[in-house]
Amino acid sequence: MLVDQKPVVMAAVSNTNKQARVSRVRDLLAELIRSLTVETETGTPTNIQDVLSAIGVQGKILDVSMMKTKQNFDEDTKIAIVIQQSWQSASKCPICGGYMLPSQSVSFDHKTRVRDGGLGTASNGQMVHPFCNSGVKS
Ligand SMILES: [Zn+2]
Repeated sequence: MLVDQKPVVMAAVSNTNKQARVSRVRDLLAELIRSLTVETETGTPTNIQDVLSAIGVQGKILDVSMMKTKQNFDEDTKIAIVIQQSWQSASKCPICGGYMLPSQSVSFDHKTRVRDGGLGTASNGQMVHPFCNSGVKS
């Protein structure tokens, strides 16, 4: 979703001054997760305009791909990349498929169980909901 809406997210982040940017990014992520959770539960599609309105971004979405693109990454773009990548890779619980809030506690799960010889290595680890990690894997 964020990938599809990358230009919009970049615009939302870059239209923010430095002081407000961190909280803006946090609000954006929280609102996106809330909205996507509703989408998962009810089938109501996430509307990026609604998400941006909820965090106080005013005005219509512009086609920022029309804007001049620089060759180097500026600070705003770097933030957008971090959001984009963390959203793609780490925002869903691999056990239940539900979204994981960055502010929630996480549990570190062995992909291959210890009793089956799984080691405490990064490649054998994954972040999951604490609740999901408390059950017995089939
Ligand atoms: Zn889970």
